[in-house]
Amino acid sequence: MAGFVRLKPAYDILVVGGGHAGLQAGLKSALLLHSALVVDRGPKYGRSYYAPKMDNIPGFPEGISGHKLLDRQIEALRTVTEWTDYVTPARVSSVRRTDAGFVAEFSWLGQARTAEARAIVLAMGVVDRMPEIGGSIEPIFPWANFAIVDFCILCDGHDLPGKSVAVLGHDEFAARTALDLLHFRPTSLEILTHGEPFLAESSPEVRDDLERQLADAKIARVATAITGFDGIREKVFRVKFGDGTSRQYDRGFSGLGWYDMHGKIPRSLGCSFDAEGYVRVDDDSRALDDHGTPIPGLYCVGDLKSGWNQIPEAWASAERAVIHAYAEYL
Ligand SMILES: Cc1cc2nc3c(=O)[nH]c(=O)nc-3n(C[C@H](O)[C@H](O)[C@H](O)COP(=O)(O)OP(=O)(O)OC[C@H]3O[C@@H](n4cnc5c(N)ncnc54)[C@H](O)[C@@H]3O)c2cc1C
Repeated sequence: MAGFVRLKPAYDILVVGGGHAGLQAGLKSALLLHSALVVDRGPKYGRSYYAPKMDNIPGFPEGISGHKLLDRQIEALRTVTEWTDYVTPARVSSVRRTDAGFVAEFSWLGQARTAEARAIVLAMGVVDRMPEIGGSIEPIFPWANFAIVDFCILCDGHDLPGKSVAVLGHDEFAARTALDLLHFRPTSLEILTHGEPFLAESSPEVRDDLERQLADAKIARVATAITGFDGIREKVFRVKFGDGTSRQYDRGFSGLGWYDMHGKIPRSLGCSFDAEGYVRVDDDSRALDDHGTPIPGLYCVGDLKSGWNQIPEAWASAERAVIHAYAEYL
């Protein structure tokens, strides 16, 4: 379908991002007989694309991979082409408000395009920060692809009981990730700070408190810079350090947080953000301004909004947004 879509002059709903949330928004819009355009940079830029096995997706008791689930959702969208157009690879660069709604500028297959809509659903997700070895993020990919290195406690914590775990990171997020992982009963936990000063940006009070909690929990730290990884054949996470030593773990876990929270477009439209940098929304996924007032016609769904970063929540927030737009706005 991509590449052969003839864009309509205007849509009821424009969806920016075609991950789990955006695809569901496009589907729901069609089912409610409203036209929608889903503009997606590409499944490879979605968070779940590299999740080999997800265990909390209803209807898949044996688990399903992120990319298979995206394929199924794209397949569903292909059944409603009368109402919903889906263009990819296409990247939205800006969105502005007009008297009639919103106009987005995007590039699609190298061409500059615009699209108009009465309501807009922002569904760009967030992007995980990856550990860099010698300035490159690629060395970690094989371990991430085999789920030997995980990125999401809520998604993969249940895989950790009885396993030795290395947490990658050096700031408060890494320290709290390590403490939170204790709940899943790993046999051991260590924090690998990769040569970075630990908790350097935290206040002395917070640093002391976290140091005490980590010491009580016997969570050790390795400060030496990492030079590479090994052990993919044996399905272990072997970490090589600059001093020539190496350490082996059953699992790695990212405590590095986000590389990009996609705040630029929401900010340009007047959205407000919570303390962690997620867009604030109400129960109908309406984006809120600095006064806590919903911004007319503007919805924010999935990981981009304040809440839990989980696929069932991405779907639910997309459904709420489109149902609200159908019932009250369009
Ligand atoms: C390794 C890993 C394992 C996970 N496992 C699970 C699990 O087991 N269960 C679970 O429920 N959740 C899991 N998650 C979390 C889950 O992936 C996210 O909650 C979910 O992907 C959020 O959906 P989303 O649509 O909001 O964002 P995404 O799925 O990240 O999709 C965002 C989309 O927006 C597009 N985009 C971004 N910017 C633009 C732009 N400017 N223009 C056009 N398109 C744009 C991207 O190309 C992408 O397709 C996991 C995440 C990771 C990283």
